[in-house]
Amino acid sequence: MANGFMGKILWVDLSKKQIKEEALDPKMGRDFLGGYGLGARILFSRQKAGVDPLGPDNILGLVTGVLTGTDAMGGSRYVMVGKSPLTGGWGDANSGGNVGPYLKFAGYDAVFFTGQSDKPVYLLIDNGKAELKDAANLWGKDTFDVQDILRAEHGNELEVACIGPSGEKLCLIAAVMNNKGRAAARSGLASVMGSKKLKAIAIKGNMKVPIADEAASKEMRKRHVQNKNPRSEMVGAYGTSFLFNMSIESDDAPCKNWDGVGVIDFPQYKDISGDPVKAEQAKKYGCWHCPVGCGGIMKPSTGEYEYGDHAHKPEYETLAMFGSNCLNNDLKSIIKINDICNRYGLDTISAGAAIAFALECYEKGIITKKDTDGIEMKWGDPKAIIAMTEKIAKREGFGDILADGVKKAAERVGKGSEKYAIHVGGQEYPAHDSRGGLNFAIGYGGNPTPGRHTQGGEGPLPEGSMPQFDFGSLKGRGEPHKQGMGITAAYNAAGICMIVIGDAYVHIKDLVEAFRVITGWDITLEELAKTGARIETMKQAFNIREGIKMPWKHHDRMLGIPPKEKGPRAGATLDEPELAKGYYEAMGWDPETGKPSKQALLDLGLDDVAKSLWP
Ligand code: SF4
Repeated sequence: MANGFMGKILWVDLSKKQIKEEALDPKMGRDFLGGYGLGARILFSRQKAGVDPLGPDNILGLVTGVLTGTDAMGGSRYVMVGKSPLTGGWGDANSGGNVGPYLKFAGYDAVFFTGQSDKPVYLLIDNGKAELKDAANLWGKDTFDVQDILRAEHGNELEVACIGPSGEKLCLIAAVMNNKGRAAARSGLASVMGSKKLKAIAIKGNMKVPIADEAASKEMRKRHVQNKNPRSEMVGAYGTSFLFNMSIESDDAPCKNWDGVGVIDFPQYKDISGDPVKAEQAKKYGCWHCPVGCGGIMKPSTGEYEYGDHAHKPEYETLAMFGSNCLNNDLKSIIKINDICNRYGLDTISAGAAIAFALECYEKGIITKKDTDGIEMKWGDPKAIIAMTEKIAKREGFGDILADGVKKAAERVGKGSEKYAIHVGGQEYPAHDSRGGLNFAIGYGGNPTPGRHTQGGEGPLPEGSMPQFDFGSLKGRGEPHKQGMGITAAYNAAGICMIVIGDAYVHIKDLVEAFRVITGWDITLEELAKTGARIETMKQAFNIREGIKMPWKHHDRMLGIPPKEKGPRAGATLDEPELAKGYYEAMGWDPETGKPSKQALLDLGLDDVAKSLWP
């Protein structure tokens, strides 16, 4: 088997309760690297277009990358894949922690689930053996309890990916959780897991990932661990919360459901920034084998917002979506909300957006206390925000309206509320503003998974320098975006943490070295970028086959229609038809429909896809 891979995929038919092993095709491994690359390749081949995302025919996968569980820095990731019930197109969600590496140590690169179980089950994978087990005692339990119960039964070295009550109740903004605070949150895939009555995937293993050059791999890791720099120190100390001040000050962070300007409308923003977050931290932690350790466990609170001694540190996105976007400057309330989301299994980006939507609808008189179960949904009221988050998590009362994201919530509420439902293609925007942030704007609308901040592009170029263009215009951005998107897709698929590449430790040349040393492939940055382009094109083809027209339609507010009147981004309006045009042209995708050209597909070796899209 190719180095870096375990060489085996598990297939679990939940309807028939059958489990089969399949060998991983080494060429497919090299062409798609694992993660969402391998996932998209397999789902395009084995899943028909038009299946119900919450029905038995949607294939759900948990897929690791070729560098997951190896000496490559940040090699901790796995990706959930499937058709997204939020967008109707390709869906994926990436998480760190320990689950990815342990799936490989248990002998598998990926596990795919088909069908639907008639009763709650979990999959136990133990060193090359897998069995479905009854999960009746786990159903209804939160993600913390699930991990504790399964570890009590199978031992503490067990790693668990699971859904909480929100996933069971098919909330489309639910998250798959592991290690109690790491989330595969986007695309609504936890609801797919819930629809299959699959409560958890529990994994044990101590096999070794085959490495091409063991000695070189150890030596490389030693060297890369020494790559500390001020930025990596900052991430280690604060997590991503260190981004909050600079994001608010540059008007990148959302404020008042994306309608405000942070420094003007939320002057108390420093109350929830890096320093106060760090002051509440009891200890730090990291994902498997990661020297950065950006995670943290907070001091317990017995005050107004009670949480125990295992509440996790809120990340930047959570601080922004439940903080500035809701005008909430009460840090402890955000820690409490983060804890609720982690326990119930909710995407904090989408849940924060849903709360901000409700706050604005309430302010505008579209909904009243009668609709919101007596809760006064007032901007910045932490108690109201906590209460409504709990309702979403449990799908209770008005929370049931919000639990499927803002697009569906606006359809249910009506009365012009879609004006305040800030989403792109059914997915809530992450906490970086597209107005004045062209890189994000291109990706949010242009990527097969809309509204994704971790699919950023634009360089570096092969020689490592940044592309040159006017930051205020779209001119010349197509090729650099293709280049950067390709490299990003490659390391995401391979199982590498983006923070380690972007903020700490690993330069892009170190990444190429990791691929070479671990896999033994004579790979170059150019090949990686091309592989990433193949992966992105595969996901794009999945959407086209589903009848989706791309680029996705942005929300007017995120295009600056009308433009902001105040703040650092005042006057910025984006030209939507032009946004992804250069990128699509560089990729060989039709700028009007998103369809990859036959030639682009053939150039990437996707002959069967070309036949399917161009019969
Ligand atoms: S940087 Fe943070 S998220 Fe990334 S692998 Fe390390 S601990 Fe995990």
